[in-house]
Amino acid sequence: MTNQAGRFGIHGGQYIPETLMNAVIELEAAYNHYKNDPQFNAELETLFNEYANRPSRLYYAEKLTRELGGAKIYLKREDLNHTGAHKINNVLGQALLAKKMGKTRLIAETGAGQHGVATATAAALMGMECVVFMGEEDTKRQALNVYRMRLLGAEVIPVTTGTATLKDAVSEAMREWTNRIDDTHYCLGSVMGPHPFPTIVRDFQAVISKEIKAQMLEKEGRLPDVVMACVGGGSNAIGTFYHFIEDKDVRLIGCEAAGRGIDTFETAATINTGKLGIFHGMKSYFCQDEYGQIAPVYSISAGLDYPGIGPEHAHLHDIGRAEYVAVTDDEAVNAFEYLSRTEGIIPAIESAHAVAHALKIAPDMDKDKIIVITISGRGDKDCAAIARYRGEDIHE
Ligand SMILES: *Cc1c(COP(=O)(O)O)cnc(C)c1O
Repeated sequence: MTNQAGRFGIHGGQYIPETLMNAVIELEAAYNHYKNDPQFNAELETLFNEYANRPSRLYYAEKLTRELGGAKIYLKREDLNHTGAHKINNVLGQALLAKKMGKTRLIAETGAGQHGVATATAAALMGMECVVFMGEEDTKRQALNVYRMRLLGAEVIPVTTGTATLKDAVSEAMREWTNRIDDTHYCLGSVMGPHPFPTIVRDFQAVISKEIKAQMLEKEGRLPDVVMACVGGGSNAIGTFYHFIEDKDVRLIGCEAAGRGIDTFETAATINTGKLGIFHGMKSYFCQDEYGQIAPVYSISAGLDYPGIGPEHAHLHDIGRAEYVAVTDDEAVNAFEYLSRTEGIIPAIESAHAVAHALKIAPDMDKDKIIVITISGRGDKDCAAIARYRGEDIHE
């Protein structure tokens, strides 16, 4: 089932079963109403500021800049948000919207558990029921986040279909939504899925670039030359890009997870290795095997190993407005350690992919150029895994 709604060039759309149409139509109508409602926006802004700790800082990384000897580097500190990442921006927006729509129950998918924890947090705050679908493999790898979600009052349902990972959790959450749309909102975690999700999630994450622009004008009196972010589904990256898309002199760079390399099968770099396809309700680029089946993806970073990318990124790539580069596990781990040592900031291993690319390009840029890197989350959650990567066994 498809129509022209929610297209980004040839990408996006609504490739969903008939049974889900009513739910997305209801959601789109409600969103179009509330996005222009001053009361809704005032409530959301209060939640952002008082609860999530916005605006997040735009921090001048002076020591990093000096060591690299090139462009001036600023860090957009989404790691300082409540729950430790950008995910809370989207979740507070969707939870508030769901509440206005009269829904009493939130469902969500989660991979590493970060989006599940953010959704469980918003549900606790707003007094809503919460059910999180998580691949069984991931529940074992991320036991601490499963505990957190349950502590916050959510029910966590292990998904055993397929490879029992993130893509299967998305499929299961969509199935559950089809079964129960009366009281339930599906709080989708990235700029993906059928319209209107890629637009809704982008709009809630766009607060990142709105703030960067204002903060940069205040600090430097001009726009940055480069803004960059890591890309899984692409929500923190589109949030970082959005208010700069029309500013053609600002380079937009998305950093994908190459895993063990884009010339291996152990990768999650969708733009660099994927092909056009239709999955999870949208047309976009996906990692696929020779038969067009969704390929298993791999990255050291659990938050980046999704086999697709949001349709708006696919379009920005097609028209050449944004660049998408691939960063390997090894490069990301080096950047994780380097930023920790240099600035005393431990980034999420996802965000370290963007830092890694900045380490490559900053030294060759003039000193009067400016780069902004979005630090999408904090890295405490990754310490045990990175220690293991370095051959050290620590107990959490
Ligand atoms: C989930 C997550 C990501 C990847 O998701 P996007 O939708 O691509 O932003 C990146 N960084 C962190 C810290 C995350 O938790």
